[in-house]
Amino acid sequence: MEEVTVKETDTDGPHQHSHLTHGQVGHGRALRLDKKPILVFWETTKACPLACSHCRAQAISHSMPGELDSDASRRLIEQVASFGTPPPILVLTGGDIMMRPDKFELIKYASDLGIRVAISPAVSEHLSDKSLDEMYRLGVRSASISLDGIDKTHDLVRGIDGHYSHTLEAISRLLAHGFSVQVNSTVMRTTYRDLPAVAEKLLDLGVKIWEVFFLIQVGRGTALLELAPDENEDVARFLYDVSSYGLLVRTVEAPFFRRVAANLKEPNFAGPQILPPGDLYRQLSNDLISRLGKSPGPAKVPSVATRDGKGIIFVAHNGDVYPSGFLPVSLGNIKSAELTDIYRNHPLLHSIREAKFSGRCGVCGYRDLCGGSRSRAFAAFGDPLAEDPACGYLISDLDLAENIMGAS
Ligand code: SF4
Repeated sequence: MEEVTVKETDTDGPHQHSHLTHGQVGHGRALRLDKKPILVFWETTKACPLACSHCRAQAISHSMPGELDSDASRRLIEQVASFGTPPPILVLTGGDIMMRPDKFELIKYASDLGIRVAISPAVSEHLSDKSLDEMYRLGVRSASISLDGIDKTHDLVRGIDGHYSHTLEAISRLLAHGFSVQVNSTVMRTTYRDLPAVAEKLLDLGVKIWEVFFLIQVGRGTALLELAPDENEDVARFLYDVSSYGLLVRTVEAPFFRRVAANLKEPNFAGPQILPPGDLYRQLSNDLISRLGKSPGPAKVPSVATRDGKGIIFVAHNGDVYPSGFLPVSLGNIKSAELTDIYRNHPLLHSIREAKFSGRCGVCGYRDLCGGSRSRAFAAFGDPLAEDPACGYLISDLDLAENIMGAS
């Protein structure tokens, strides 16, 4: 059982991309992550005007049969409120929330119950000034937008020529409307070289939060390539550097970022437990410095150990509940069970929260701070408690000794 204080800048997180936002997380008071998630992601619809190459939701142009109707949606919102005061933040994802005809009624219903609502819309003509005004009036203050690279890199991922410029324009408009904007980017073989340029662009635009999702081969992402573990380590090291330029950097499905950050922050933290910098780190770092100059200040990275099913829960379009949007192991359905009961009592979530893992994650000294991506473990091994194959950490003698002592 753990008790942590979550501040606005603390959470690593979820983001059930394209579409998650942990923006504006936290209530500045102690939260029990075994009792209440910080974020509830709700896939309000599968309908989306885009067809992104890595889409978790495999979104389509129309809603799917079985989508929660307005009545069922209100019951879900009541279940979120029943976690207690303050309730978790409700992140409206998709598909595209803007495709839900009842979106304003549902946001109002949640706001009236004291729930903070964040949106993760697609960039399309549906994201009009009028809609943004109405959402702001109803209490929405946070939005996350996906930007996966510069110019054609982004357009290729999104499958639409010119989408990059529309995305920049949408970010500027959201900021002008007063929203706190988080930008979500996916790290994969077709995008990682643009990371320094994206960081520069976000700082130019005035974005404060960058959430970087490390690809998992599910949904449309299956046809694309994840990076190798040593490359992930280099990207994590680079992101730590980026956070010193005034961007709060979080990762999604890459909790080993916390191990890398903890070691870089305090080099004596349990010994040297990250790989030495590789060629990819040097390329990214040199590019970053050529754009932004030398690092101006200390790194600013999250410290709260959330992971799939721990601080985060995901409700699919049809009411099925999952530890995250990337982990297709159903825990139940909100039409026949209470979300609070599923979150607090499901055995798989207990195992995830208690870090009962196998493989390297099971003997790793960082299994509580990090714990690996449960989604990637499932994608790779069919077991959500297996090790995260994307991690570059070589288990040390110290880890093994601690593990043996702990078992004796
Ligand atoms: S081995 Fe697992 S728990 Fe340890 S740092 Fe890597 S992903 Fe995290």
